[in-house]
Amino acid sequence: MSDTTPTPMQPNAYWEAIRPLGFALPCCEACGKFHFYPRPACPHCGATSIASRPVSGRGTLYSHSVVYRAPSERFKKDVPYIVAIVATAEGPHLMTRLVNVAPDDVRTGMRLRVRWDAASPEPLFEPDV
Ligand SMILES: [Zn+2]
Repeated sequence: MSDTTPTPMQPNAYWEAIRPLGFALPCCEACGKFHFYPRPACPHCGATSIASRPVSGRGTLYSHSVVYRAPSERFKKDVPYIVAIVATAEGPHLMTRLVNVAPDDVRTGMRLRVRWDAASPEPLFEPDV
């Protein structure tokens, strides 16, 4: 018996694929709602016609954690860094990292904007001042 369940696109592959659009999120062509992570069917209505649409790149901080101890050698140069859940203006929440802000200055609900960094395959967020 084989498993025919479609495999959701991994977020890193998604961000590479939509990079020419700027910041874009998967959007259902049937109900018009955005979602994230990328998946083969809309989580709101079940339709399978999904397109990536450019979005504002704005959002607010939903939650965060400051990482002081690197989980591996690779991250030692980065600590302390901020892992965040960002509520995008269009609705979906993304796990990401905050940059250009000191850990003590981070506040839940603060306004954020997307920031692409050549060193990161995924979009980062920074304060929208
Ligand atoms: Zn839908």
